[in-house]
Amino acid sequence: EERLVTSKRAEEDAAELALRPQTLDDFIGQKQLRENLKIYVAAAKARKEALDHVLFHGPPGLGKTTLAQIVAREMGVGFRATSGPVIQKAGDLAAQLTNLQPHDVLFIDEIHRLNPAIEEILYPAMEDFQLDLMIGEGPAARSVRIELPPFTLVGATTRSGLMTRPLRERFGIPLRMVFYEPAELETIVHRAARVLKMEMAKDGGAEIAKRSRGTPRVANRLLRRVRDFATVGGHAVVDAKVADEALSRLEVDGRGLDAMDRKYLSCIVEHYGGGPVGVETLAAALSEQRDVIEDVIEPYLMQLGLLMRTPRGRLLSEGGYRHLGVAMPRDQKR
Ligand code: ADP
Repeated sequence: EERLVTSKRAEEDAAELALRPQTLDDFIGQKQLRENLKIYVAAAKARKEALDHVLFHGPPGLGKTTLAQIVAREMGVGFRATSGPVIQKAGDLAAQLTNLQPHDVLFIDEIHRLNPAIEEILYPAMEDFQLDLMIGEGPAARSVRIELPPFTLVGATTRSGLMTRPLRERFGIPLRMVFYEPAELETIVHRAARVLKMEMAKDGGAEIAKRSRGTPRVANRLLRRVRDFATVGGHAVVDAKVADEALSRLEVDGRGLDAMDRKYLSCIVEHYGGGPVGVETLAAALSEQRDVIEDVIEPYLMQLGLLMRTPRGRLLSEGGYRHLGVAMPRDQKR
């Protein structure tokens, strides 16, 4: 069964399309990033140029795809989307690039998963708007050069550290997304409730926001599950009590941790004496993919100060012990 508090995309998120903000002014949170982006967009428009290439990095579900679409809309240009693992062959990328109109946005999600041979083709495309392709094989092979219209590549990655340096350095505008503040998530939850025609009390929105892992996608997903409980329980208005009941039944605790997060923390305490323990070891012990641990589980636990990443491995903090209700061994206090 799929985790509720995962930040991965799911089918039902199609319903979220209606919840996507359409302009930079509608977009809640990421204030500094948004203000900078506004200036870059205005400047590119004033000069009638394509916007410089943009790289969004940060945990899943924070709004990278949404912002990429907004950039295209604010620039008044077309938007095409693909993702790193989908682009298998040079021809796949060439097809995308040669279909672009001047100044269009090409969005590549999970850009850190591009295959290295494809990356090589991307460099001259990004720098000089030129596409160098090999046609044919063996001695008959020759290279052709295709001129591309100036375009904007918008990349998104959950971990820019996995990107090669030459690729990273070709983005003129690197932007880091941060977890949302509870007040920002509260606004997002209330707006989504209006779209879903749910009656939401002020404290109901606050309760869901506080338990959403700083992540709009999680907030929207929890909101829909709470709505199900409210419908079945016959509650016309979702207040803090209704939200708390539903979220507790879903095993989402007061700080937004779910059963898997707690299992992760307990595993470090019970089997590895609180750490340090390597991520590969934990992945095996929990039968969970390393990517999921590093992209989804750990960033939020670190944000809350429950977990520390050290060169020797993962280490539970005093707060981590407190969250589990376990006393921290004396010799571990630092
Ligand atoms: P990412 O690409 O970073 O994984 P998305 O852009 O797909 O994240 O956003 C996930 C969902 O969260 C979207 O469907 C959108 O409805 C919602 N969302 C993201 N950021 C915001 C925001 N700032 N305000 C309102 N909703 C947002």
